[in-house]
Amino acid sequence: MTTRVVVLGAGYAGAGAVTKLEEELGPETELVWVSETDYHLVLHESHRIIRDPAVEDKISIPVEDIKSRGTRFVHDEVVDVDTDDRTVELADGDDVDYDYLLVGIGSETATYGIDGMGEHPHTLKNLDDALGIHEDVKTAARDATRENPAKVVVGGAGLSGIQTAGELAEFRDRHNAPIDVVLVEALPEIFPPGDSEIQGALRHQIENRDIEILTDDPIVAATEDEIEFDEREALSYDVFVWTGGVTGPSELADVDLDAEHNRLQASSNLQTEDERVFAVGDCSLVDQGDEPAPPTAQAAWQAADVAAENIARAIDDRPLRAWTYDDQGTLVSIGEAAIAHDVEVSGFSAPVRTFNGTPAKMLKKSAAARWIAKITSWSRAMKAWDAL
Ligand SMILES: Cc1cc2nc3c(=O)[nH]c(=O)nc-3n(C[C@H](O)[C@H](O)[C@H](O)COP(=O)(O)OP(=O)(O)OC[C@H]3O[C@@H](n4cnc5c(N)ncnc54)[C@H](O)[C@@H]3O)c2cc1C
Repeated sequence: MTTRVVVLGAGYAGAGAVTKLEEELGPETELVWVSETDYHLVLHESHRIIRDPAVEDKISIPVEDIKSRGTRFVHDEVVDVDTDDRTVELADGDDVDYDYLLVGIGSETATYGIDGMGEHPHTLKNLDDALGIHEDVKTAARDATRENPAKVVVGGAGLSGIQTAGELAEFRDRHNAPIDVVLVEALPEIFPPGDSEIQGALRHQIENRDIEILTDDPIVAATEDEIEFDEREALSYDVFVWTGGVTGPSELADVDLDAEHNRLQASSNLQTEDERVFAVGDCSLVDQGDEPAPPTAQAAWQAADVAAENIARAIDDRPLRAWTYDDQGTLVSIGEAAIAHDVEVSGFSAPVRTFNGTPAKMLKKSAAARWIAKITSWSRAMKAWDAL
């Protein structure tokens, strides 16, 4: 009898798992890949679209160019998973049954219950979000003057927020646009998960790009034209992008599995409490001891490989492997510039912990290119090179 493996999502988790499963699964298995987008978006470079929407073609890769012919792709939105019946409910099509399921449908932007945060700001989680930000910034700049520049505010100074602010500055400088860019962070320092060395390097680079940084005061409300703080005076804005945090997808809210804020709890072998269901990427909280694995592309693509292998092992009744997150360092772009911190190159640590300039920029580009090459080919990765 054929065993059916179903993969949900076409991000790093989904695309990575599908390519690995195609290598691992035996002939008595059927692989079904479901996603609401029929392309993989290199999301960790999606901020580049804010500067130039033409980047879209370089960083969105059709699923047909990733999967092999034997894998069936279903272009639909997952609305629920029934673990008792082992079915995935779709918005438009018929339910899809599974023997093994890998959930990799990413995340939503957390609003933390802040008044107005769910309605007013842009978020950045997909192609339409990035294109929408570009359009609104362009319009705001067109309506502004040197005396009365457009105010574009980015809330949240993590990886997404810092890189978004960098692209806004790049757009401003390339078009000589009358825009003020402000980066807001609730905590005392930007890039809160980082140590003081990378925080200092990022702050220096961001201020060099003429981006104003406001820290140490949380946003308590957002209206259609103002951001209210706990202590500081309200800040009016023309465009507001909120990148403040990660929460699980609402489609997982009713799934009968252990979860926190809709992120499925998984053991280090990527299995949830249901041995037929694996969870990878931002929609999961994968046990790594004290802290779960971080919600990053780097963690998702590493975990996807092991989860796929473990599904093949589970089918053959072989023991599962544990996954240990291997932090290969941090690469952050600020427009055309980049900062590298604690990076490993071919398994070796770089001689300096934190650096910028061309070496950092090349490492940032090559990390994204390596990913594109892994799921497609080096020729496609090289075509994307300029956009990365
Ligand atoms: C601007 C920005 C910059 C970033 N920079 C970095 C960085 O420099 N380094 C780094 O490591 N990480 C970075 N990240 C984080 C990284 O992009 C995420 O951690 C990563 O995308 C998670 O991968 P994923 O596969 O879990 O989810 P995603 O990449 O979000 O993929 C989710 C997939 O599921 C699909 N999907 C969602 N809901 C449904 C549904 N209901 N039904 C069907 N399909 C669905 C989506 O269409 C998508 O294909 C950045 C993120 C952003 C937004």
